[in-house]
Amino acid sequence: MRDDLAAGDPMKKAKGSFRIGIGYDIHPLVEGRPLILGGVRIEHDKGLAGHSDADALIHALCDALLGALNLGDLGVHFPETEEWRGAASTKILARVAGMVAERGYRLVNADCIINAEEPKLAPHRAEMAGAIASALGADAGDISIKATRGEGLGPVGEERAIAAEAVVLLEKVK
Ligand code: MG
Repeated sequence: MRDDLAAGDPMKKAKGSFRIGIGYDIHPLVEGRPLILGGVRIEHDKGLAGHSDADALIHALCDALLGALNLGDLGVHFPETEEWRGAASTKILARVAGMVAERGYRLVNADCIINAEEPKLAPHRAEMAGAIASALGADAGDISIKATRGEGLGPVGEERAIAAEAVVLLEKVK
């Protein structure tokens, strides 16, 4: 390609500037635990079991952010040690956001799906986006959270688990 063309070609300029990442997580739904999703405590008769607060949505998002930078997965950086026992996942997300910033990237947008039979999550979407944006240092308008039910099928549909998926796009800023 001629250099004068390359200099004016936005696609050429963008090469290497953007990175995409995908994340997935699932936690068992059990009695005697609070339900925390997207950094928000949601009234329900069951909650998610796990070493931290078991916030499947934030864990999926963290894995997507780490994946975009090829930094391995959440388990590598946040092992099941005392430090992270019962920890708020927003704290883990803030730490991951630091890794993103350290490497000179910023979040363009995140698109997330929560798979849950119950409770209804639509009324909590805005609050979850706000809590995530605040932990990430991002704009809530760039965090999309969707919810879908299991329609009675599998561990999600049988209300034995809640799962989440996330895709992120990062942009190099320095
Ligand atoms: Mg998890």
